[in-house]
Amino acid sequence: MSGKIKIGLTGGIGSGKSTVADFLRKKGIKVFDADKLAKELMTSDEELKLELIKEFGEKTFSGGELNREYLANTIFVNPAKVEKINSIVHPAVKNKLTFLMNRELEKSNLVAAEAALIFESDMTEMFDYIWVVTADEEIRIKRVMERSGLSREEIIKRMENQIPEKEKISRADFVFYNNDSIEKLEENVSFMLSIIQKI
Ligand code: ATP
Repeated sequence: MSGKIKIGLTGGIGSGKSTVADFLRKKGIKVFDADKLAKELMTSDEELKLELIKEFGEKTFSGGELNREYLANTIFVNPAKVEKINSIVHPAVKNKLTFLMNRELEKSNLVAAEAALIFESDMTEMFDYIWVVTADEEIRIKRVMERSGLSREEIIKRMENQIPEKEKISRADFVFYNNDSIEKLEENVSFMLSIIQKI
């Protein structure tokens, strides 16, 4: 491989993106998790914490940790507040992720980041290739029900908050259709990796 490549891995709820991320990690590729990073930054980045307190009040934190109940009951139920919190948190995540990916590429040629909201939070420019993992809606619902115990209605509600699968597929560089077994998915990812490593 000649170039240094950044892959952005995304997909709707239950599509299988974490499964692909884990497989890449097994292959020795560093995969950052943007959602996890966002949570870490919200409790460790002092500047970000101050901004959140300024906007949403002292109650945002309790004992240095995020006050999840307050967030769930007052922010995440209000679309304007969701937009506001995203406009504070997303730039910090993007900066940190870019820094971490660049640092990783000093010692390797390929790095990836898993993020549910690559399209929604305008992260596409950060990556060379966007990989979208998808599966038929009914399959995704069943897999999430099995994994989480959420009801069908709760899952559908969450799906409705994400951009439609069709749009994700049309904006992807590569699409993995995950309607079959995990082995088949991994085979397809290996194949794509072998192609990308020749670029
Ligand atoms: P979320 O955004 O909800 O975290 P995700 O896109 O990261 O979802 P995964 O966690 O990878 O999705 O997959 C959802 C569930 O479906 C997991 O329990 C996973 O083990 C299972 N799963 C993924 N792919 C397959 C497959 N091909 N066959 C059977 N089960 C699968």
